[in-house]
This record gives sequence, structure tokens and C-alpha cells, in this order.
Amino acid sequence: MNEVRKLLEPRFPGLHARIEQVLIEAEARYNRQNQQAPSEFLLEHSQRTAAIAHKLAVMERVDPLLPALVALYHDAGKFHQGEYHTDQVPEEEHAAILAARMLAESGAREAEIEAVCGALRALYDDRLPCVDACRIVQDADRLDKLGALGVGAFFTKATLRGRGLVDALVQSLSRELSYALAAPHSMLTETGKKLAVEQAAKTVAFFDELLHDLERWGIAAFERRPLLVEGDFRSRDGASVHKVQVTIVMPRACPDCEAPIALTHRCERGVKCEMLKARFACQSCDYVRDISFCLPVLA
Ligand SMILES: [Zn+2]
Repeated sequence: MNEVRKLLEPRFPGLHARIEQVLIEAEARYNRQNQQAPSEFLLEHSQRTAAIAHKLAVMERVDPLLPALVALYHDAGKFHQGEYHTDQVPEEEHAAILAARMLAESGAREAEIEAVCGALRALYDDRLPCVDACRIVQDADRLDKLGALGVGAFFTKATLRGRGLVDALVQSLSRELSYALAAPHSMLTETGKKLAVEQAAKTVAFFDELLHDLERWGIAAFERRPLLVEGDFRSRDGASVHKVQVTIVMPRACPDCEAPIALTHRCERGVKCEMLKARFACQSCDYVRDISFCLPVLA
């Protein structure tokens, strides 16, 4: 039995299994409605985030029960009604409604339900106080995307979307490296900050090696461009941030005709984040690739 389940079982018998079932069903429904291959990405990410939150809580000397519960639910609203962000309601709001119902059915006290829902809502609404459980889960969610775990998830996700190795790098490595770069500055707990430095360094080292090997064998050549994105962003504590540093990873030359590639970008407000949209366009032929990702939020 894993640590999180061992922790929850005596207090809320059967709840851990019911949450897992809800996550499995939500992802299955989404996959069916969108003609996608079956996957358990949501379930596994939630289990890993809960496991990391549990450890972080212990290291931060916080009771791990609440962080573990919030972590299990933090993405439970992602595929509400089998859709992904179609109704303009933040996913954490759907997660909070679901958690409140399930916890009430499990005999949780009103104060416990409010604590879980408050932390879930504070994950997206920065006007709400980010209590310990909120800070720990946010850090755990980010730590899951770093280091060897993050690299594993990067390729698992790419495979689910039918992408090959080089294609996955063109499409998603800019996001991955930008998050690794920002991670130490976006953590909310002291333990999270320390771990993010170590784990982000592993991410960068792995992809450095991979890009090096691809180039050494003449398979693909990428270049990394630091990009300072200017805009009117807000940090978690509400302070204004005008610049966010990202790393764009793009083919060094057009894969089709070897002519130079032009990089253009713009920002757009998404449902839950400020999106960076970048385009790699060949200056000679019609090769074009569009990438987009949520800009990292700094603490
Ligand atoms: Zn070209």
C-alpha cells in the first residue's frame, strides 16, 4: 500500500480508491469523446503529485493529510463532462465541487471540507490565501514535471499524442526547458525551492545530452534561444511582473530545405494562464510550426 493511501484509509475508508476511480473515468470519458487512445496519465500524475506532496509536507513539518487530499483532487476537474476547458470555469472549481460532495459522503467534517475546497480554489485564484496545503500541492505539481520523473512524463505524453522523438522536442521542449528554468523561482515552500534547483538541473542535463546526441549522429540540430517575454503578468502574491524569461528550442535550420528559420511570438490570455504562442517559419519554403504554452508563474 502506498504512503498516501495508508494515511487516508483510517480516516476516510475507501475514499482513496473512489478518487482513483473518478480520475480513471474522467480521463476515459475524455479520451472516448475525443477519439484518443486510452490512457491513465491523469491518474498517475495525481498519484505522483500526492506522493510528492506527502513527502514535502513531512519535510515542511505540516500534517500531510490535507496536502495529500488536495493533491489527489487538484486535477480532478480537468476533464469536466469529458471536455477540456470549454466552459470557462477553472478546473479547480470543478475539482472543489467534486471534492466537497465526495468528502461529505465519506463523513468528513464541515471544517475539513472547507479546508480542502479552500486550498483547491486558492490554486488558481490568487486573491485567496495560499495556505500550507495550497503551497505544498502547487510545489508538488511542479516538482512532478522536473528531473527524471518529468523527463519520463514528457515522453509518455508525447507518445499518447502520437509524436515521435524529434517531433516531441520541436513541439514541447521549449515549454519543458522554460519551466525548468523558472521552477526554482516559482516554488512556494523552502523545501520545494531547494528540490527544484536539483531536479531542474537534471532536466536540463538530460535534454542537453539528448540534443547533443541527435546532432552528433546528424539526426537533428536544435538551437536554444533565450527570450524575454514582456507583458503585464502577475506573480502568485499579486505583485506585478513585466518580464518572464523563457527558452525557445527550435530547429537550427529548416528540416525541409535548410534555409534559415524565423522565430516570431506573441502572448494571449488563456482560460487559466498567459499563453506564449511562438511560430517557427522557414524563410524559403512553407515549413511552419506553431507552439504554445502557459508562461511560468513566478512566486
Ligand atoms: Zn524550408
